[in-house]
Amino acid sequence: MATRSVVLEVRQIALATELISLGARLPLLEAETSLSRDRLTRLYKEVRGESPPKGMLPFSADWFMSWQANAHSSLFYNIFRVIRGHDGAPIQSIVKSYRLYLEHVQLHAVEPVLSITRAWTLVRYFAAGLLEGVACTRCGGHFVAHAHDPKSGFVCGLCRPPARAGKRGRRAGAARETGLPEHNDAPARG
Ligand SMILES: [Zn+2]
Repeated sequence: MATRSVVLEVRQIALATELISLGARLPLLEAETSLSRDRLTRLYKEVRGESPPKGMLPFSADWFMSWQANAHSSLFYNIFRVIRGHDGAPIQSIVKSYRLYLEHVQLHAVEPVLSITRAWTLVRYFAAGLLEGVACTRCGGHFVAHAHDPKSGFVCGLCRPPARAGKRGRRAGAARETGLPEHNDAPARG
């Protein structure tokens, strides 16, 4: 029915607009909506006042493993695990979880490290079996990890920060920033 397709199209445009306003890249928009690349490009320009960035999406599961990225990614994924249970479409759960992630880091006056595109990629990597959640044996928090890394005796990056992070007098800065379990020996960011 013509009416129904108009309604569907409006929904697609609303979803694309929301994703663009959150900073989504074009390939993400193409994957999650049925709108043409041309329409998405025009929509992008209208919403953000500039052309969408060109080029491929970042493609590396390793990105999620660096200390800071892992803390942010794990925060997002813990939110997503809860939200996903209540929501139908994965993309809606991703958007909702990402908004909560942004609220959370902004509440702690921290720059978000995870982009919506990375968050979306993270969920896809989990679905594809590239990444898995693993519980830290010290703090019990769930963290993003490579699927095939050994899981027994896992200790997270907050409990065992990299040596170079060191102590800088800001007690448990990163833990407070991300809201992940707090540790006295967690370093300041950087
Ligand atoms: Zn831990």
